Amino acid sequence: MCVTSRVPVDFVCRRCGACCRIPNGIVRVDEREIARIAAFLGIDEEAFLETETELAPDRKSLMLRSRPDGACVYLTEENLCKINPVKPEKCRTFPFEWTNPDSSAYCPGL
Ligand code: SF4
Ligand code: SF4
Repeated sequence: MCVTSRVPVDFVCRRCGACCRIPNGIVRVDEREIARIAAFLGIDEEAFLETETELAPDRKSLMLRSRPDGACVYLTEENLCKINPVKPEKCRTFPFEWTNPDSSAYCPGL
């Protein structure tokens, strides 16, 4: 459940990558985001859909795939986002526009 964010005014992202390796985390992608990410990666949209996305548990949308350890496939070893310029809205807006009830448990900036 997402709630309106109560991010501290002095919030500073520690770039720890914890928000990108939440087990069972869901990063939905819509058609516009799919086209943008595929273009950024220089791969065909069909190939992107096949290899980089999967059906969300509620079957209402596609979401980015995760690695077996729960990390997003685009999280680098340096805790950076490989698709940062075109990352999905859900990633761009956390934690400024939304958080989950347990977000402060993993995000050291909250
Ligand atoms: S797309 Fe980037 S910001 Fe979003 S979860 Fe994956 S690595 Fe993190
Ligand atoms: S968990 Fe919080 S501090 Fe760490 S990268 Fe994500 S937003 Fe930044």
